Amino acid sequence: MDTMGQMSIGVTALVLAMTAPCYAAAGGQAPSAQIQCVSPADLTARPGEKVPVKGNRAFDRPEPDRPLRTAQPVAAGLRGAIRRVDLPRGKKLIALTLDLCEQTGEVAGYDGAIFDYLRAERIKATLFTGGKWMRSHEARTRQLMVEPLFELANHGWSHRNLRLLQGAELSREILGPQRSYEAIRAGLVINQCLAPKDAERIPPRIGLFRFPFGACNPAALDAVNDAGLLAIQWDLSTGDPSPSTSAKEIAEAMVRNVKPGSIIIAHANGRGHNTAAALPLAVPRLKALGYEFVTVSELLAAGRPVVAQTCYDSRPGDTDRYDRLFTLRAPRPPPPGTP
Ligand SMILES: [Zn+2]
Repeated sequence: MDTMGQMSIGVTALVLAMTAPCYAAAGGQAPSAQIQCVSPADLTARPGEKVPVKGNRAFDRPEPDRPLRTAQPVAAGLRGAIRRVDLPRGKKLIALTLDLCEQTGEVAGYDGAIFDYLRAERIKATLFTGGKWMRSHEARTRQLMVEPLFELANHGWSHRNLRLLQGAELSREILGPQRSYEAIRAGLVINQCLAPKDAERIPPRIGLFRFPFGACNPAALDAVNDAGLLAIQWDLSTGDPSPSTSAKEIAEAMVRNVKPGSIIIAHANGRGHNTAAALPLAVPRLKALGYEFVTVSELLAAGRPVVAQTCYDSRPGDTDRYDRLFTLRAPRPPPPGTP
């Protein structure tokens, strides 16, 4: 999701991370059996990395249109926007999702404190990652990709409003992140970060999609589902894009509004302003209430997904306003009444 906003990242820090020596080759002990190319120090948050940089156009060039393996379209019962999952009585599973949005003309942030906390507490999360964000944060993407706690998912190439796109532009926004993902995944083996047998454990394709701004229409939903991607929305919004929403307010919203089967949306691109401070307040309380954090894919497999035919934040129609924030590129606006 994410609203329009500010930007910044330390490019120097990124380059340092990408050129870090192989930990195993340096004679140290790898932090997990899977990760061979990063040290624990590489994983931790770095000062300044959270802050988005507006005006940095270094990663604006679209991903080349390389062919992708074909995917089966989503089956009838799951077509639409999945908002939560109905679970068997007594199961208290929930999915924390973090969006890593990045638009054209910016390099968004990486909120390392969030990931440090999730790793330390062994909390699973699903990361809706822009393709452009993956390219501007390749070292971080590799770390997240190989970490079994995290599930990578698709958040569009450059966070455009898919209600206003069609044809090749729509396709590029949906498939671009898969191309980025495959290239970075392949690089794990090429760069000897992973043995080929370990790389096979990383899914070859992404199966989940989240609409930028949470905004869709029937054509965009069909395009996403036809590409074999489940459209994942949420039933619990933390409100973290607003700088005025405090950590305490975010934590209270999470504890007050959570239900078994909830999908929680927050941001880790530097625009989830107080999420890093909110999680240590909310997570222990949610655990004490008996909730267990799982990935979205695990949540979907545990019950019956609740599917809507419209996309919205907290009430139907409330994402329509994002149409007005963009130059209308589609030949005509969405039909009346379409969210
Ligand atoms: Zn977003």
